[in-house]
Amino acid sequence: SIKGKTAVVTGSNSGIGLGIAEVLAARGAKVAINSFSDTEEDHALAARIAKAHGTEVIYIQADMSKGDQCRALVETAADKLGSVDILVNNAGIQFVSAIDEFPAEKWDAIIAINMSSTFHTTAAALPIMRRNGWGRVVNIASAHGLTASPFKGAYVAAKHGVVGFTKVTALETAREPITCNAICPGYVLTPLVEAQIPDTMKKYDMDRDTVIREVMLERQPSKEFATTEQLGGCVAFLCSDDAAQITGTTLSVDGGWTAL
Ligand code: NAD
Repeated sequence: SIKGKTAVVTGSNSGIGLGIAEVLAARGAKVAINSFSDTEEDHALAARIAKAHGTEVIYIQADMSKGDQCRALVETAADKLGSVDILVNNAGIQFVSAIDEFPAEKWDAIIAINMSSTFHTTAAALPIMRRNGWGRVVNIASAHGLTASPFKGAYVAAKHGVVGFTKVTALETAREPITCNAICPGYVLTPLVEAQIPDTMKKYDMDRDTVIREVMLERQPSKEFATTEQLGGCVAFLCSDDAAQITGTTLSVDGGWTAL
């Protein structure tokens, strides 16, 4: 079970990562939350979650666009919490542009944060998990790890890469009590999605509700956003004993998007 396990969730001072960190803490895990910032609010957030659930929660600053900082995050968490049993690779950014106008530095940043960070944190975490004889790696990919949309070239490439790397991690750990899977959410209403609304409103000359219903949830047949709590519950399931033989696969949480 998750009780007493230690978890690192990358990019977890907001949105889905925060939801996952809260669910893991609620189920008794010790959790390291992370972002690139290092503010009083970041540390207060960790203290608030710790108090709410009577477990240890710490904040560790590390920039997931930098390989050495990805690795340092895992090492620091192992030092401070005692180990890293659960690694959730969640940090991610988005940028929307046609390929011929896509800024090269945005491409590089998305590939680094959304995809390469997963390589670096996993590389640092596997030896620790092997030492402890147990591990769970959960990569937060996307419906865009399985299908594509125009103008999201870097994001779609990075998320497909994460799904591929998930399979390789699963194969390299197949004979060990370690699993690696990817969760592929459709739309979840978080600051990342919220930030896309104004531009999309302008682009299609639509109001907010129409953008949400017709553009964002156009491909989500349920017409509902998934919640960060639901995603936390899915991570918890993949960390459970029931999921011990689930490895190298994807779990879609997309209201039917990829069934279309
Ligand atoms: P968000 O913007 O609310 O959260 C992203 C988190 O990553 C934040 O905590 C942010 O501080 C952190 N982050 C960004 N750059 C970082 C960096 N360089 N180093 C460390 N942390 C960094 O977005 P979200 O919607 O919660 O997205 C979380 C993950 O879920 C992303 O990987 C995203 O691609 C994926 N996802 C989101 C949706 C959705 O609809 N929201 C759908 C599918 C997949």
